[in-house]
Amino acid sequence: MRCFSSEYDERSRSILEEALRGLTAYASWRAFDPGPGYPVDARYAAMPTLTKKAIRDHFPEGFVPAGKDIKRGLDSGEIEFVKTSGTSDVSVTNIWHQRWWDESERLSWQLNSHAARLATGTHNEAILANPINVGFISNDADLPMGKRRLARFLYLNEKSDPALWTPELTKRMTEELEEFRPAVLEANPSLLAKLCRHIAESGRPVFQPGLIVITFEYPSVWHYRQIRRVFRSPIASSYGSTETGYVFMQCEAGKFHQNSDSCRVDFQPLKSEHGGPEIGRILVTPLHNPWYRILRFDVGDLVRRDVSGECPCGRNSGMVLSAIEGRMATATLTAAGRLVTLRELDDVIGGLSGVEEYKLEQSGKDSYDLFIVSRMADKPALGREASLRLKQLYGEGANISVRHEEALSPEITGKYRLAKTDFPMDVEDYL
Ligand SMILES: [Zn+2]
Repeated sequence: MRCFSSEYDERSRSILEEALRGLTAYASWRAFDPGPGYPVDARYAAMPTLTKKAIRDHFPEGFVPAGKDIKRGLDSGEIEFVKTSGTSDVSVTNIWHQRWWDESERLSWQLNSHAARLATGTHNEAILANPINVGFISNDADLPMGKRRLARFLYLNEKSDPALWTPELTKRMTEELEEFRPAVLEANPSLLAKLCRHIAESGRPVFQPGLIVITFEYPSVWHYRQIRRVFRSPIASSYGSTETGYVFMQCEAGKFHQNSDSCRVDFQPLKSEHGGPEIGRILVTPLHNPWYRILRFDVGDLVRRDVSGECPCGRNSGMVLSAIEGRMATATLTAAGRLVTLRELDDVIGGLSGVEEYKLEQSGKDSYDLFIVSRMADKPALGREASLRLKQLYGEGANISVRHEEALSPEITGKYRLAKTDFPMDVEDYL
């Protein structure tokens, strides 16, 4: 049975009341408040959601609590403005407060026993990410290790597209893991899977970090398979966003636990014909960011609640998820109009043989293009198998075209996107 501390409810209440009382971004929300006589959960449930558009419209003054001076915060370096580019949405500027972010991360480590043991805050950490998102970018020249260090971090990759990875570069990454011996390796699953394919081919041994933390992107069944060919380390998926900090952490038993000391999460189920009530979206309210009041922010992802609310690991503070289902921006529709989450699609692709990478684009109501990278000799057979399975998922009337590619590239955001529709989809239509 999940339970929340009395601090959680009290903090949720005070944050809400402060925002309704004093912040212009939430002035229009006052009319929705049933009042202080109602339980805090009911008051939250009555509120609208915060969208990226609303953040743009009221940034920054509309979100900064009384007594905080934005100019002084910026001048002293306590805060800065950072621009994010979502997978699908327009970019948005946020207030970045490093101390709050670090604290949110530190609290999330307690939700995984390996992280709790290894992540001290001074531990050395290697990061395999797209430098568009984090690290140092250099597409022309390779950067020496010293130019990719920052405090306790080593950024293994400086290329914005892994198509630029040479055999020398992947060899260098492998050798640097051995030399740096990170306690934790944090990685985009797509990039780590690609590195693992190279390591497996080379037959070289590789240093085993104490924990691999998967972040930035949805981890596919195929990513995990490729990573597991090379790494025996425990793997945990960490989930959050620039606006909200660390929201869920996967424990050693594989479920996702809410970082309830750091944020409030409200769950809105999809309609039953689209996967509700287990599948829904989450609205996140950071509880302790002193500079930036974000309430009921739609992170843009769909999750699957664990019906039992229990986990073999014994943690019971906050919401428990059995899975992250992928972004709304990676959801597709069957020919009959039922919503298909990325996880459901990924499970189907996971049933094929010999897939290295894939991407599915739905170009119309019943037309789907699957782009697939494989080393299989009999590609036509793989194509037929893929087509058959996708018809079982999307409907007999679905028109499936399969195209074999040499490699796939990330989007301009720096992240890979495994599925998308060429037409707009609004989550509100499925709630
Ligand atoms: Zn657990």
